[in-house]
Amino acid sequence: MKKTHVLIVDDNLLNLELACDVLELEDFHVTLVDSGEKSITTARQNPPDLILMDLRMPGMSGLDAMRELRKSEITRDIPVIVLTASVMAGEDVRLLAEGFDGFMQKPISPASFADEVRAYLK
Ligand SMILES: [Mg+2]
Repeated sequence: MKKTHVLIVDDNLLNLELACDVLELEDFHVTLVDSGEKSITTARQNPPDLILMDLRMPGMSGLDAMRELRKSEITRDIPVIVLTASVMAGEDVRLLAEGFDGFMQKPISPASFADEVRAYLK
């Protein structure tokens, strides 16, 4: 069976490695990039089943990267889940209204992370 391919985008290396380790243990195929810009080129070259996108990154933000992904026929239909450390009330509603397909809170919880990701797969 083909592994589910998840692209994780985060400028924080520790966040990337933790999320990657947890998903690889659960038999996902994981690609890591550390910027919004790279998420676009990588997703076009090898479209993943799902993208986990950090919001605050130097250069292109997660929001702008998601908007850019929506412009291309190749990447338009890939679910983009925002990963954010923000705990502001209403932030999840605001981000979903911006066009993200889902919202996950950082720090990730290793025990439930893979199931949360699976729940967003089509
Ligand atoms: Mg960040």
